[in-house]
Amino acid sequence: MNKKIIIAIDGFSSTGKSTIAKLLAEKYNYIYVDTGAMYRAVTLYAMNNNFVSKNHLDEKGLLLNLKNISLSFKFNKDLGYAEMFLNRKNVEKEIRTLEVSQLVSKVAAISDVRKKLVAEQKIMGKDKGIVMDGRDIGTVVFPEAELKLFMIASADKRATRRYKELLDRGDKVSFKDVLFNVEERDRLDSTRKDSPLIKADNAIEFDNSDMGIEEQFDRICALVDREIA
Ligand code: C5P
Repeated sequence: MNKKIIIAIDGFSSTGKSTIAKLLAEKYNYIYVDTGAMYRAVTLYAMNNNFVSKNHLDEKGLLLNLKNISLSFKFNKDLGYAEMFLNRKNVEKEIRTLEVSQLVSKVAAISDVRKKLVAEQKIMGKDKGIVMDGRDIGTVVFPEAELKLFMIASADKRATRRYKELLDRGDKVSFKDVLFNVEERDRLDSTRKDSPLIKADNAIEFDNSDMGIEEQFDRICALVDREIA
């Protein structure tokens, strides 16, 4: 039988990490965990309780309420992936708005928020057979992961991708705002003190600005096959 491993996928916003992660999880029958969804759900909680907005962040208020935030994933057979639940409510759609995207990096920079989520993520990976995507998976959550990928792509390509996704959902957004958000999140995520977005030394970099999803997936599967053999 093949060995079960941990696949860590990190990289900048909208580099197609989750698309690759979902395909890998399906092919290898692994659990897929979208850690961005967890930071987004905490941000939604903070927004709904007035702990964060464009011009303010009540870090203390949020931290006092961290114990009241319960996150879970539930697999949706029709979609083929797990949806995010915040305090038992399905928030999968709500967490993908541009508004959440505009506030999430502020919330994700808080060390105690990260501590809580990283602890939960480590538990999810304890039996391996997992593909997890995020910003600090190969560096902080699973530095011991057998395979680490780091995804990059031009800001323009990434914003175009995210813009299409938002339009498909029926959200009214401008390309300019989406591009600004993608670049701003990269900047905040890469410069924060705790667990900044950086490529792990032993991560393999993929630039998919001009590479199709199939070609990329084939290359990554070859790496996984070598690792699990
Ligand atoms: O992956 P996604 O774009 O949904 O992530 C949303 C945000 O959550 C990121 O821009 C980042 O601020 C935060 N994040 C993080 N660490 C992770 C995953 C996401 O700080 N492991």
